[in-house]
Parts: sequence; C-alpha cells; structure tokens
Amino acid sequence: MRPRYWIKVQVASIKINRTMPIRILLSTSEAVTDKFILQNIGSKMIKEKYTKNILLGEIGEQEKTKLLNSKVLIAGCGALGSKVLANLASAGIGTIGIIDNPENCKAEKVLSAQKWVEKNYKEINIKTYNDKIDEINSEKIIGEYNLLVDCFDNYQSKFLLNEYAVKYNIPMVHGEAAENYGHATVIIPHKTPCLECLFPNTKRDIKLSNESAGFAVNALGALMSQSAINLLLDIKDDLENVLLTYNSDEMKLEKIQLSFNPDCRVCGQKQ
Ligand SMILES: [Zn+2]
Repeated sequence: MRPRYWIKVQVASIKINRTMPIRILLSTSEAVTDKFILQNIGSKMIKEKYTKNILLGEIGEQEKTKLLNSKVLIAGCGALGSKVLANLASAGIGTIGIIDNPENCKAEKVLSAQKWVEKNYKEINIKTYNDKIDEINSEKIIGEYNLLVDCFDNYQSKFLLNEYAVKYNIPMVHGEAAENYGHATVIIPHKTPCLECLFPNTKRDIKLSNESAGFAVNALGALMSQSAINLLLDIKDDLENVLLTYNSDEMKLEKIQLSFNPDCRVCGQKQ
C-alpha cells in the first residue's frame, strides 16, 4: 500500500502546456580533451556543442553558461538514476556527482556510470561517491552541489536525502518509479513541502521494486531531468507544490496539489 499524501486539493487531470514536452535529446558528443575544456569553458565552442542537444528556444548563451557552471548530484545509480544521468549529461551540466550506498548498488555500477560519462562527455567534471550519506559526510558531499536529484530506490536513503536537502537548503527533484507507476515533485526547502510533509511517518524499510526498468521509469527520468533543468535556469516549474503521478499502463498523468504539513518534523514551523 502506498503511503498517504498530505493533500490539500486533488486535481484529476493534467493540463498539457508548452513546458511539458520533453525537450532533451540524447546524443553522443564528440570527444573534447580536458585541456581544451579548461581553456575553453564558457566559450562559444563549448556552448555550441550542446546547442543541438537542447531544443529550448528560450535557452541562449547565458543559460548555456549557467548549465555549464551548475553542479548536480544524482543520488542513486539504478534504472532511474542512469536515465537522469544520460539526460543531464547531454544537456550540458558542467559538474555531475553520482552517489549510491554500496549496500544498495554495487560499486561497479557507480564506476560504470563514471566511465560512461568520461567516455562520452569528457568535458563534464564527474565525481562519484560509493558511500552512504550520513551526518559526518553529508555537508562535505551535498554542500558541494546546487541541485540534488533523488533517484534512490529505497525510502531510508530518500528520506535521509530529504533531511539534508532541507538542512543545507539545497533544492531537490524527488521522484520514484516502480513497475507501471511513478511520481515526481520538486522540493525547494521552506518554499515547497518536503518529502516528510508528503509522506509523514513512512516506514523506512520500503525498497522499490527491481522490476522498475519499464516505461514508467523512462518517463519519470525524462520528467525529472526537465525539472532539474528548469530549476537550474529559474524557469517556472509546474512541479513546485505539485505531485505528478504517472501510470504507464493506463497512460494516465495526474497532478496532486500539495501543501506544507505545519507539524512536519523536518521542515515544519512548529518543530
Ligand atoms: Zn516538511
């Protein structure tokens, strides 16, 4: 049974607007040496490298530079994390970190993700952490990034990441997908409800199904990547204060309006 949402208003249908189409194309870039990048970071040549990758009319030189200067931590390197990684790498994010708990994800997964980026996107500064996030390392790791993307496949890690996002005031795109279902939202600490507001007192021992390599995970990977780009570029994002749910069997998208839980133990005013 899925946890209960902290819901203010339920909206039965989603309005498709011009921000909805997934505008990130996956393409393999040509090899560029590190030395070249160091000399040319922010240059016209590097920015043009991504012009074909991002079909956003509203993205100009300034926005491309902003993406190159962005630092995004992808938390979780399973099916969802690898989709998000592919999208964000092709979108021209300058620094990408990948973290996963060795108990949840074999070390080879983190390393193979790193190798893939190094092979296809030499200009990206890639950092990997085959580690658990905890009180000791959280500030050092998370504090380095200006956006977190929660692709963890277990609630223990997801809720911990949420706590640190709020603690260090770093925006986070949260999402999950299993089998035919997925959902996503954007968490901007103290501006939008946090994960604990949405799913209070959720059991932490829930692990998402391994059978998540279906279409729902693809769709969620694309939606979360788009949200990450929106947040980095300060483009208004429809996932703020909204939980977007997706059912791939029924081709059903729903938006659920969210509100703060004033008693939230993580971000609540009464704590
Ligand atoms: Zn909260």
